[in-house]
Amino acid sequence: MQTFDHTPSSGSLFLVVAPSGAGKSSLVNALLQQQPAIKLSISYTTRQPRPGEENGREYFFTDVEDFLTRRDAGEFLEWAEVFGNYYGTSRIQIADQMAAGTDVLLEIDWQGAQQIKKQFPHAVGIFILPPSIDVLEERLKKRGQDEPHVITRRLLAAGGEIAHASEFEYVIINQEFTVALSELSAIVKATRCRFAQQSTRNASLFAQLGIHANLS
Ligand code: 5GP
Repeated sequence: MQTFDHTPSSGSLFLVVAPSGAGKSSLVNALLQQQPAIKLSISYTTRQPRPGEENGREYFFTDVEDFLTRRDAGEFLEWAEVFGNYYGTSRIQIADQMAAGTDVLLEIDWQGAQQIKKQFPHAVGIFILPPSIDVLEERLKKRGQDEPHVITRRLLAAGGEIAHASEFEYVIINQEFTVALSELSAIVKATRCRFAQQSTRNASLFAQLGIHANLS
């Protein structure tokens, strides 16, 4: 399979995965406020918008027919069915941002993360865990955004999602929000210091110092 992440202008790709209710979106939103240079990929979904969600901000909301047409036309880098709805990552959005050297963050499920890792082996996988199952349930109920049967379905699915935590390089336990945020931020900063990223961003310095890339 073709991989893309050794192109000289590549930004970093972050995959943030968690069971619903682990606090993933709040953490990601706070990270993006701290580090606005990171771009969040806006996925396509067939799920109905929740109150307060806007088309083109949280997701591109679409119907099943349109989603399947796009999927069959190869518009998605990855796609998955989650909780009875389709979700997909726009190929062109990611390609454009990565080519411009921008760091991109995907909030996706474990199935999507597996597909992306095959194409971008250097993508940085970060799994967010709740401090306990009880806290997860409490957070899902408090969020008040979903019907009770949807909450039950999401709780049941949480175990399945959590079973994939071992496939990720990094794990953050979201007990204290500020601690979890500083850990997420530290992972992003450390990734930016990787040789491949530094040598691309500082190509003339590296050339001046006679440092040659040895990317394997
Ligand atoms: P929600 O409906 O709560 O926004 O998202 C449900 C699940 O779908 C979450 O685990 C979320 O990360 C995942 N998801 C959102 N966008 C995508 C996507 O583009 N691809 C995949 N594979 N999963 C996604």
